[in-house]
Amino acid sequence: MSNHAETTMNSELYVIEPSAVSTIPIEGSDLKFPINRVFCIGRNYAAHAVEMGYDPDKEPPFFFLKSASNVTVGEDFSYPTKTADLHHEIEMVVALNKGGSNISVDNALDHVFGYGIGLDMTRRDLQSEAKKMGRPWEVGKSFEKSAPCGPLRAAAEVGHPSEGEVSLEVNGEPRQQGDLNQLIWKVPEMIAILSEYFELVPGDLIMTGTPSGVGAVNRGDVMHARIAGLGQLTVAVV
Ligand code: MN
Repeated sequence: MSNHAETTMNSELYVIEPSAVSTIPIEGSDLKFPINRVFCIGRNYAAHAVEMGYDPDKEPPFFFLKSASNVTVGEDFSYPTKTADLHHEIEMVVALNKGGSNISVDNALDHVFGYGIGLDMTRRDLQSEAKKMGRPWEVGKSFEKSAPCGPLRAAAEVGHPSEGEVSLEVNGEPRQQGDLNQLIWKVPEMIAILSEYFELVPGDLIMTGTPSGVGAVNRGDVMHARIAGLGQLTVAVV
């Protein structure tokens, strides 16, 4: 035996312990969904694009990523460092169980395992600074625990939601409200366009954008998110 740390996974030897696979539980099942990448789409509800100062009609979709390890389930949200303007963004999450490149809009939904509720927590002050400076968004978007999520619901159970209320309350006060039918780029279009830029693989998640009403939360606040047909998600900021 060597005298430095070694650990095994699939009978490979590593010099450090490999990171655990990030997962999301599946409602009504003991099985878990293993996460690969987390693609996020920006400005995908017209009213939110307008509130952020953009014209919703002219913009092709754009994407950024969070890390799989940013996803938490059933945990409080720890207020992150280096921000004084932490925002909530409720989003429908799409989980892919098939991959591919150049997937057509017509068969895009065949690649979807299921759907859930997620929060794209955002250090808005750092994101705004990054936008101004033409810098990447990671410090604003991809910090630890920045994607609290609820369990996934299989499309076999809930279908492919394309309409229904999306809402988020903070301490019982309404903040965000919209409808899935207001998505500028629909789920099949998002999958098709993403698959032109990336080879999608099973385990990829897509956070589909947030309706208007984003705003700040602070320690002690409780966020309560709902999407019709997908249940609810309650997350405390600590
Ligand atoms: Mn977002």
